[in-house]
Amino acid sequence: MSITALARAQVQALTPYQSARRIGGQGHIWLNANEAADSGDYTLDCARLNRYPECQPPMVINRYAAYAGLNPEQVLASRGGDEGIELLIRTFCEPGKDQILQCSPTYGMYAISAETNGVGIVDVPLNADRQPDFDAIIGRLDEVKLVFLCSPNNPTGDLVDRAGLLRLLDAARGRALVVVDEAYIEFCPTASQASLLNEYAELVIIRTLSKAFGLAGIRCGFTLANPEVIGLLLKVIAPYPIPEPVAQIAAQALSEEGLARMQTRVDDINRLKAELVGKLAASKQVREVFAANGNYVLVRFAEGAKLFARMATAGIILRDFSSKPGLSDCIRITIGQQAEMDAVLDVLQQEQ
Ligand SMILES: *Cc1c(COP(=O)(O)O)cnc(C)c1O
Repeated sequence: MSITALARAQVQALTPYQSARRIGGQGHIWLNANEAADSGDYTLDCARLNRYPECQPPMVINRYAAYAGLNPEQVLASRGGDEGIELLIRTFCEPGKDQILQCSPTYGMYAISAETNGVGIVDVPLNADRQPDFDAIIGRLDEVKLVFLCSPNNPTGDLVDRAGLLRLLDAARGRALVVVDEAYIEFCPTASQASLLNEYAELVIIRTLSKAFGLAGIRCGFTLANPEVIGLLLKVIAPYPIPEPVAQIAAQALSEEGLARMQTRVDDINRLKAELVGKLAASKQVREVFAANGNYVLVRFAEGAKLFARMATAGIILRDFSSKPGLSDCIRITIGQQAEMDAVLDVLQQEQ
């Protein structure tokens, strides 16, 4: 009798999330996980490490609320944006009965979190313009509890159309929650839907310190929603989800100085991104450069597999999306430092 046979059937059948870290690779230039190239310096006060931390550290919550233009009652901090996604599923979806809706190709964690919690997945693929098919989504609202939209979408980069979102929010009143994942919104802040939170009780927004703030290693994210939703999530969240060192670093990242550093990083990345996109678009080996609204760009190459292998040989690790529907020959490139972008272009320009 194997130990595995003792596990829940649901778990035995699972394939773990293929995170960039798990896929790994040999290389010295890591452009496969949309991480920032730097994190900045932080100080740590170890005087209180003997005590359990606050469930929701007030300084972190207050500063994030001020940054997002919301009240503290509309903000929940969690172990990365990923825990926010999972908490929503655990709070609103009955295992074995309820379903979530997603629009593929999109971020993998919506489906993984649903599956690990015994929750079904309705997939309404993005349309030919790579927008959510709002009519089709509205037609299936009664089958689902949560609709996940990602804006900018990972990996395609497109922003969710605001008129379509408003139509969906009107249709969703009292029926389902609409979750807009804004993990990359700092790279295109005017596209945020956060101002709609005060009008639409069914709207939820996911944010993170992992991307523009350069803090993927501390695991800190935020769920923004009306106080009733936040109150329900607080019933389900672990008692001490935010370790004291994480709270201290997050508070510093959200200080005036921290926000200024984040803004400088965003400006640098957006500038490097514009340069890279221009050069990619001019390359004969490139078929299509997707909308680049985050800190990454999805590129369809003439021969994606060959290009990926050539990059890997040069020690450059990218993320291959070519097996996803509609994304043949597509590879995602994280915007790193100038030298890293130069290395990518060097390989692209080499004789084949
Ligand atoms: C990175 C990412 C997240 C959250 O990441 P965390 O590190 O868990 O905060 C959420 N959504 C998308 C689309 C992402 O790319």
